[in-house]
Amino acid sequence: MIRLGIIGDPIAHSLSPALHGFVLKSLGIAGEYRAYRVRESELQEFLATHRELAGFNVTIPHKERILGYLDELSREARLIGAVNTVQNKQGKLVGYNTDCVGFLRPLRARNFSPKRAILLGAGGAARAVAHALLQSEVAALTLYNRSAERALKLAKELQKLYPSPKISVADDPRALPLQHVDLLVNATPVGTQSDALPIPLPARLSKDLIAYDLVYNPPKTRLLLEAERRGARILGGLDMLIYQALESLKIWLERPDLEEQIEYDTVSQMLKHLAHPHPQPLSPARERGAQG
Ligand code: NAP
Repeated sequence: MIRLGIIGDPIAHSLSPALHGFVLKSLGIAGEYRAYRVRESELQEFLATHRELAGFNVTIPHKERILGYLDELSREARLIGAVNTVQNKQGKLVGYNTDCVGFLRPLRARNFSPKRAILLGAGGAARAVAHALLQSEVAALTLYNRSAERALKLAKELQKLYPSPKISVADDPRALPLQHVDLLVNATPVGTQSDALPIPLPARLSKDLIAYDLVYNPPKTRLLLEAERRGARILGGLDMLIYQALESLKIWLERPDLEEQIEYDTVSQMLKHLAHPHPQPLSPARERGAQG
């Protein structure tokens, strides 16, 4: 019996237990995957007292801070500076990052190769997204984060590692070059089980823009709903959730062939049923409020 889980705070919205439970069952593996609410101040104690876990995922707000408590890091996790997957290797905690691959695969599956991107957020998930984009064809990346200093620090770090692409930071969401990019990524939790918009959107968006929300609950967030209404193409976070989960399971189960045994569409349908219902379209009065 393999014991797995996810740590984070908040964690009640997570679909990871249902997803991993379903995949383990499909593979005929006896195991459990539980959600653990772990507050920032409880992280160290959790790691010391839950050595029965063979592996676990890491989500908001621990992806960066956990690096300091792990015994080893994969090359990718060290480069990105964030961990979303931990393997307990005979008592040694080893950190990996599967968000990077998980983020790119849905883009690749749709033949999207963005060249200019805006990234909202500067936390653990945003780090993985930024590295994924800068290792691909992206030539210009603009970061925007609620706390500007965190975005500035990340931009500096990225520019050192990737000297060619132009990396900039916007300090006002209204100044974001939305008409000049082909990808907008939300890597903040804004929109999770709420109808909040992470940034105000202009009345029209280009059909060449893809709005990609990492938030997957609801599957079609307010950002996606509004971006689509304004003419952009959209991509929700459920596909990334599935791909990063499968990459984590490959590590824990040491089964690189695992995807051949899984029916992707069945997993995706099951998660869509479990996710929160879509937000309602905004009334004109509420829309003005949301954009103001
Ligand atoms: P994190 O490391 O804690 O970073 C959170 C980021 O969001 C920070 O940049 C933070 O800004 C910003 N933020 C938080 N609350 C905000 C608010 N109310 N308004 C504006 N900005 C806010 O978290 P994370 O691990 O990167 O996760 C971010 C989100 O991505 C979560 O919702 C997570 O579920 C989602 N995610 C989804 C997938 C997937 O597979 N679909 C994978 C990874 C992550 P400050 O710096 O100002 O605090």
